[in-house]
Amino acid sequence: MSENRYDLMILGSGPAGMTAALFGQRLGLKVIVFGDIPGGSTYMIHHLANFPGFMEETSGTQFGTMTFQQAQSEGAFFTMTRLKRLSHEEDTFVGVDDDGHQHVASCAIVATGRVPKRLAVANVNIPGVHFCSICDGPLYRGKNAILAVVGNDNTAGQHAVTLARVAEKVLLISRSDRLAMDAAHKKLIEKQKNIELLLNTEVTDYKGTDAINGLKVTAKTGKDGELAIDGIFLAIGWRPNTKMLDLQVEKTSEGYLKADQRLMTSFPGLFTAGDVRETDMWQVLTACADGARAAKYAAEFIEKIQIF
Ligand SMILES: Cc1cc2nc3c(=O)[nH]c(=O)nc-3n(C[C@H](O)[C@H](O)[C@H](O)COP(=O)(O)OP(=O)(O)OC[C@H]3O[C@@H](n4cnc5c(N)ncnc54)[C@H](O)[C@@H]3O)c2cc1C
Repeated sequence: MSENRYDLMILGSGPAGMTAALFGQRLGLKVIVFGDIPGGSTYMIHHLANFPGFMEETSGTQFGTMTFQQAQSEGAFFTMTRLKRLSHEEDTFVGVDDDGHQHVASCAIVATGRVPKRLAVANVNIPGVHFCSICDGPLYRGKNAILAVVGNDNTAGQHAVTLARVAEKVLLISRSDRLAMDAAHKKLIEKQKNIELLLNTEVTDYKGTDAINGLKVTAKTGKDGELAIDGIFLAIGWRPNTKMLDLQVEKTSEGYLKADQRLMTSFPGLFTAGDVRETDMWQVLTACADGARAAKYAAEFIEKIQIF
């Protein structure tokens, strides 16, 4: 096993990790980044939305490449492998990557994002299946689209309300017999005349060849049916990527990393940024902001260790 010592170890090469790498290097730290996809989840973005200054069509892949090149030009080292395990021994974070190489650092930032849960259907990756209504909803503006939302919590409610502004009709589908969202969301849904609620209904398959054009559904009564749709937005939960942490860290009941105002987790010297942390907005912009702040506070943490 080869061993390399760094000031800051960053797990994840998405917007949060890339920005943390950029700021870390500019703050004078020696930074190593783990991650196999430059830009992280942004590769799934056809047209980056909600990012100030990006009016021209920019894909997530282009954005990811730009941030990768920028962080690399500042001197950050990219392993292009994922981190298999992160532990802590004798005041040092110890990371073992997928190739079995060991790296050590004074501080670490977990910026590993989250993955959306998908329906267990055959054609699971067919185009037209979305996870972010404020990102992809505008693709359907002016197209008299019929859109489905699957889920029944506040997120599903928010998707339905957001999409009702661009679609002709929104079908809010839940296999449960009631909505598990707060009163404010329920009220918004009732007010919106183009949202139709389908409770006790389970989506069993996607229809379509090149793109989704319908759903196979089963009602709890046992009756099967089909629904014509132009797109579907899933709100059935996410899985934060924290499996590699061999450390005692406080998490929410859904597995997101808890952090204080300086983005430090309950484990001293372990910071977190972006979608993997407990937050209220999951966007490129907020992930970047987190990355910058986490790097700043990591640098301050290292300064303190060096003084005492
Ligand atoms: C389909 C889709 C469209 C979207 N569109 C937009 C949009 O238009 N505008 C917008 O602002 N936001 C959009 N988003 C949200 C945006 O992509 C995320 O908020 C953002 O990418 C979060 O950045 P992050 O760095 O926290 O995590 P991520 O981008 O998820 O990056 C984390 C990376 O860490 C990697 N990783 C996981 N485990 C490990 C490990 N053990 N070691 C190393 N690396 C690891 C992951 O594989 C991933 O590549 C969209 C999301 C999706 C899914």
